[in-house]
Amino acid sequence: MQDQFLRRIDYLRISVTDRCNLRCKYCMPVDGIEWMPHDFILSFEEILRLMKISTQLGFRRFRITGGEPLVRKDILDFLREAAQLPGVEDLMLTTNGMLLPEMAFDLKAAGVQRVNISLDTMDRTRFFENTRGGDVSKVIQGIFRSLEAGLNPVKINVVVVRGFNTEELPSFLKLAKQYPLHVRFIELMPIGVSSEHRNEFVSIKDMKELLGLNEDDLPTKDIPGGGPAEYFRPSGYKGSIGFISALSRHFCDTCNRVRLTADGKLRPCLHSKHEVDLREVLRSGSSDQDILNVFAQAVWHKPAEHHMNNEAWQDTRVMSQIGG
Ligand code: SAM
Ligand code: SF4
Repeated sequence: MQDQFLRRIDYLRISVTDRCNLRCKYCMPVDGIEWMPHDFILSFEEILRLMKISTQLGFRRFRITGGEPLVRKDILDFLREAAQLPGVEDLMLTTNGMLLPEMAFDLKAAGVQRVNISLDTMDRTRFFENTRGGDVSKVIQGIFRSLEAGLNPVKINVVVVRGFNTEELPSFLKLAKQYPLHVRFIELMPIGVSSEHRNEFVSIKDMKELLGLNEDDLPTKDIPGGGPAEYFRPSGYKGSIGFISALSRHFCDTCNRVRLTADGKLRPCLHSKHEVDLREVLRSGSSDQDILNVFAQAVWHKPAEHHMNNEAWQDTRVMSQIGG
């Protein structure tokens, strides 16, 4: 469907849990967050009902995220059902990759088409420290298992943080050169814990400089699900490199997505605190038509743009609760 600014909105990002097996420094506070009570979290039946309703509004692409989506019990059964819903053309997943070595083939068999895997550093110790306990070898193994399983494309999300991984960026170029991997460098967003670390922000312009990207390299449009990323495929590369800039050059005018939080709130904009409580509507015995009307209203009122560049901007949630 279209929103009031004539943007075509057909992409729903669904967080299926606020829980995670890691505690990334820019995403979660050191003591973690208080998990939501179980009955706050939408059941898979409720999520499938909302997906079905959203397809009637023209939603076609669905990304499952979290927290860490692969830690939720029975996730594979849910994905299998979600992939078979009429109208679902693209089912994707964003994961930290820790469980991919054993799950990549099952995901593909369940109907997931592609995965985005978060990997901010390939250094063992740095990864362990940044994720507060993660094992980078599992993630790297998971990336290659995903390629073997035929998930395509496999995209790697690298959040760039000054003083943490800036000097490592060129090694990520090698990854995209040697393998059919699409490495995307992402600007740190001031959400939750990260709002206190605005000085660690690196703009896309600075990233390109650090990478020595040649100005003659032209962006390519042939990466499926390109979305807000600007991709380059330098000659000789099996994969590509991309840049996602939410701050220095925001992409609000072409935004095509809304988000569903694990506790059933529809968030028309990642960076606006405004949410519509679909869980309440679902659990009050509403008909599909009533739910569709509330859903459509929320999408229609999607804000024109975000105000994250404003220093005073603060979210009430941390990123693991929204799903990225
Ligand atoms: N746990 C999964 C993962 O890490 O891929 C899925 C959820 S995570 C919240 C989704 C994405 O958001 C990850 O790629 C993560 O790096 C990114 N992210 C988290 N906090 C961020 C921030 N403050 N700025 C930019 N990206 C962030
Ligand atoms: Fe967990 Fe992903 Fe947040 Fe890291 S970025 S703490 S893996 S939800």
